[in-house]
Amino acid sequence: MSNQTTTSIFAPITVDLQRSADGGWRSVLYDDVYFQRNHALDESRYVFLEKNRLYDRLAAHHAKNDARAVFTIGELGFGTGLNMLLVIDLWRDLFAKQGNSASRLHLISFEKHPILRDALANVYAEWPTLEKSCRWLLANYPPPCGGMHHLHDDNLNLRLTLVLGDIGATLPDMAGDGTIDVWFLDGFAPLKNPAMWHNDLYAHLFRLSRAGGTLSSFTVVGKVRRGLTAAGFTVEKTKGFGIKWSMTVGHKPDGHQAIQKPQRIAVIGAGIAGASVARALALRGCEVSVFDRHGEIAAEASGNPRAIVYPKPTADDAPSGRFSLMAFCFAEALYHHLPQNIWQQTGVLRLMLDAQKIQRAQKITAFHGYPDALCSWQEKTAFNHPALLHATGGMLDAAALCKQWLGHPRITLHLGTTIDQIPVAGFDATVVASANAARHFAVLADLPLQPLRGQVSSLKPTAVSQNLRQVICHEGYLTPVVDGWHHAGATFQKEGPTQTTSHTDTIRPQDNLENLETLNTHLRGFGFGAGDLGPARARYRATTPDKMPIAGKLEGAANIYVC
Ligand code: SAM
Repeated sequence: MSNQTTTSIFAPITVDLQRSADGGWRSVLYDDVYFQRNHALDESRYVFLEKNRLYDRLAAHHAKNDARAVFTIGELGFGTGLNMLLVIDLWRDLFAKQGNSASRLHLISFEKHPILRDALANVYAEWPTLEKSCRWLLANYPPPCGGMHHLHDDNLNLRLTLVLGDIGATLPDMAGDGTIDVWFLDGFAPLKNPAMWHNDLYAHLFRLSRAGGTLSSFTVVGKVRRGLTAAGFTVEKTKGFGIKWSMTVGHKPDGHQAIQKPQRIAVIGAGIAGASVARALALRGCEVSVFDRHGEIAAEASGNPRAIVYPKPTADDAPSGRFSLMAFCFAEALYHHLPQNIWQQTGVLRLMLDAQKIQRAQKITAFHGYPDALCSWQEKTAFNHPALLHATGGMLDAAALCKQWLGHPRITLHLGTTIDQIPVAGFDATVVASANAARHFAVLADLPLQPLRGQVSSLKPTAVSQNLRQVICHEGYLTPVVDGWHHAGATFQKEGPTQTTSHTDTIRPQDNLENLETLNTHLRGFGFGAGDLGPARARYRATTPDKMPIAGKLEGAANIYVC
């Protein structure tokens, strides 16, 4: 972490752990313990798993074996993650003893002061019985950067969403009314942490709870129980663990209609947007049909040799920067399980080529205090320019990823099939993910999409360039050698496809020379010449005026979505 102070709620303050008097762990910030040392696992199992009847409820959920069924547990205060680890272990045990199940488990935990990974590893060393789950959590633990992080274990149909930031700011923004089956209320004692146990909190817990959903907490403080009751929960005291006299349990009364979910979905476009949305829907139990007018997957810009993936934070904590950072963390969490031939975490070095860019980049790293792995300032580089290094960035074979994702058994592919009308008849919803072609549909003709032609050139490695290990971004980019070639891109021309060029375009030799010249201007020393130029590829990006993606439901139209 940078040692500059930050003023952003976006950068949560990480916390130091200290040994408590009984040899457990306490938070220096709150002067309270995470759990009692001697009985930590048994006590958490009793208060949170047993008192919410999770042994029976999760076994019944597992037995449904239905990908449309999701059981959701929310938690105030992730802390060391002990409660969530116990749930994961219980879920893992059901898979081991009763076989695989398509049913899904979603855990959502809120945390203002994340513990750093190394400190967590010390805590976990004391829990050998949870070793498998601890190892998974450590391997997927996100950087301490505010927002929503998703950790996946596809073998267990498990997603853990860590929401980093003050719950007073993050909980009101949570979507998913009526979806939480169980709440663990574990945010330090109200006396030690009065700010968290605020009256607004209870209304949001109630809003997000499913009818019949339950909750439990160590605390029996009257203010908390009155707050929960006023929000609509039925609350009672029950016997606490061991010598502890009491604790709180509660539930949201029944009487709420289950939400009808769409089940048969048409997705138009088999590029990275279409493949991502199709996979996400298939994982949630929907039957998905993907249509593409081309005879192959990722035929347009998604099929470029490599996509360069890195976050673009802003210096002023703007929503666009937050979005980019969260999108990057989301993508990286998915990609880092992929084989080397699809995702290579090379790091991305972005050279700052003029004084203005240098100043902005320095402001970015100073303001947020980003974890080094996400974004760090490099005063000196081998390229005579300072740079931002995104060490967890890399390069993606997006076409290969699309193929992998579209191979899901609940996805049917219809290549070479042009859709003329939306919504597509016979489906509960239609998702349009066809880039510039989305505007061919009358209801989407006004989408602010601007086609932008780009040509990527491939280059034979030189004696010097073959040693390049990172992706370098300057005005364009240069990849390390992939299957014998560097890829350098890309040109920008405000042009759209014409009748004759369709979605592809003929290669323009002058554009290859332009890529080469930009490269040689900023990355002197590699010694590329025109003789090193090899194949090239030109396609049309779909850009928007503010460079943000378009995603969501089309207002006023029956079940049409765009992404
Ligand atoms: N469930 C945890 C475990 O298994 O280790 C123990 C949680 S500990 C008792 C309480 C946690 O609540 C701490 O990690 C603390 O940082 C977090 N917390 C306190 N105030 C918060 C707030 N306003 N928003 C989000 N998290 C908060």
